[in-house]
Amino acid sequence: MAGEPQADCLFCKIAAGEIPATIVRETPTTLAFRDINPQAPTHVLVIPRVHYPDAATLAAGDPGAVVDVLREAGEVAAQEKVDGTGYRVVFNTGPGAGQTVFHAHAHVLGGRDLQRLV
Ligand code: IMP
Repeated sequence: MAGEPQADCLFCKIAAGEIPATIVRETPTTLAFRDINPQAPTHVLVIPRVHYPDAATLAAGDPGAVVDVLREAGEVAAQEKVDGTGYRVVFNTGPGAGQTVFHAHAHVLGGRDLQRLV
């Protein structure tokens, strides 16, 4: 069922504590942990605890969870002290955009010069 944990989902397993991760923040609805392959000095993933495959399906199925993820992205940036210089929040959506894990997640990137994308 939409939103339910998926047995074959890496990020559901991390949310359940079945696979270790370097957790930086936790709330009842979200989890933030360091990306295993960081692309910047700060590279943290913020996930909703509910399972939806990407940001668009999350927004359609559980809009409040999107707000929670974005709020937490800001809290991560403040905790990592990259909020002053600026940071980027990215939702890769679909394989063509580089999405490799199909549990909605926000990348929070900061701590280096981030070139303008668009
Ligand atoms: P995507 O490419 O936007 O789907 O992002 C998935 C991210 O998950 C990538 O940046 C990976 O480096 C990261 N990743 C994959 N496995 C793990 C893990 O076990 N712990 C933390 N990050 C992971």
